[in-house]
Amino acid sequence: MKHGWLNWTIIAALVLGTLFGELVLYAGAEAIGPDHWTRVAGEYVLIRPLKMLIIPLILFSVVSGVCSIGDPSRLGLVGGATVFYYLATMAIAVTIGATLVTLIQPGDLDAETAANLTGQAEAQYQGSSAATRIEAANEGDKDSLGGAWKNILDQLIPTSAFGEMSKGNPLSVIVVSLLLGIALAMGGDKAKPARDFFTSMFDTLMRIVGWVIMLTPIGVFFLMAWTVGSIGLVNLTGPLALYVGTVLTGLLTHGLIVLPVILFIFGRTNPFQYLVQVRRALMTAFATDSSSATMPVTLTETVESGGCSKKASNFVIPLGATVNMDGTALYEAVATVFLFQVFGIDLSMGDLVIVVITATLAAVGAAGIPGAGLVTMVIVIGAVNTSLAGRGVEPLPLYAIGIILGIDRIVDMCRTTVNVWGDAVGAKIMSRIAPDEEYYLKDSAGS
Ligand code: ASP
Repeated sequence: MKHGWLNWTIIAALVLGTLFGELVLYAGAEAIGPDHWTRVAGEYVLIRPLKMLIIPLILFSVVSGVCSIGDPSRLGLVGGATVFYYLATMAIAVTIGATLVTLIQPGDLDAETAANLTGQAEAQYQGSSAATRIEAANEGDKDSLGGAWKNILDQLIPTSAFGEMSKGNPLSVIVVSLLLGIALAMGGDKAKPARDFFTSMFDTLMRIVGWVIMLTPIGVFFLMAWTVGSIGLVNLTGPLALYVGTVLTGLLTHGLIVLPVILFIFGRTNPFQYLVQVRRALMTAFATDSSSATMPVTLTETVESGGCSKKASNFVIPLGATVNMDGTALYEAVATVFLFQVFGIDLSMGDLVIVVITATLAAVGAAGIPGAGLVTMVIVIGAVNTSLAGRGVEPLPLYAIGIILGIDRIVDMCRTTVNVWGDAVGAKIMSRIAPDEEYYLKDSAGS
């Protein structure tokens, strides 16, 4: 979408929101709560309108994307390549995370600091809203590796199409939409009216997305103010600074080196030019902290500014917003190993391999919403604990998560940006396998 002024106003909103949050809201050194008016305003202005569009957009974009690819063998190729891309990049991200946290050892603190952190962890954990979600996730995951698979399978094989839509379960809606799209693509002339209906509805929905995007600067301002006011930038300096630094180093390495190289090789694209083209999606991801809520923006920007094919984006972006989470995978590895380090529990090479595998699965299973990665982390902790129990080592208590709870929102904003960047890179690469006519035109005009 054009509107160059929007980019500048979003950047201004990011900066002004941060200043407002730090100077006005956090001035009393007392963090503001989750019901503060800035958060409520951000919810109403941006988050709720975006969320309202997610499920209908998945349905219409995936069905029309699959229909437009049409030919089942081409569909198989695009689907296979997309899933391979998601898993490969997440595996690379998680390996970067596990390597960095092992090398940097951010949890190797002096005895007093570690005792302080572990002492406060329980109180912070018990009083938090995340604790209920974490306990619930843990209940269902007695056998954690199995739990990770079950979490994914439950979503992949839904019991009721409309039920899943009303529950707002993106992965299940994608499965239903894929089946519907394939059936329509194979339906010949008889199915043409239905195919046209889905394509036309998709274009219509995108018009509404365009209206919501106009609200981004206002929403971003409120959300930034709330985040900064509820955490306070000073808290990023204490004993957790090295942990935050490790996650950020990993995210920067993945986002600015690994993904660009992949895009350059497989997408034949100038990665940094493309990054600038899709920046509106990345800034929205940063401020909303949710790849699902950002999905409508990503879909618009990859096609209209980034020159991706509609065929590829319609399919790759909704799926990616739900399952492709490079930033989350990397973070899960760093955070888990960090917590074990703070509690002085040594992990073997085998334990690290377990972290790498389960963190990838946990990231796939995490929803694209704020704090989802924090909750699915119990899968990783549970799996490592099971392995430790086999060696007679004390497990990590779940309340350890309390240590990183307070600053998680900031870390989450950064990993969500990388999650969305990974989706955008995927869409660009897949555009070469599934080009639109317009894509060819744009491409040859540009070269
Ligand atoms: N907030 C992330 C996202 O929406 C998920 C997470 O890591 O918590 O992509």
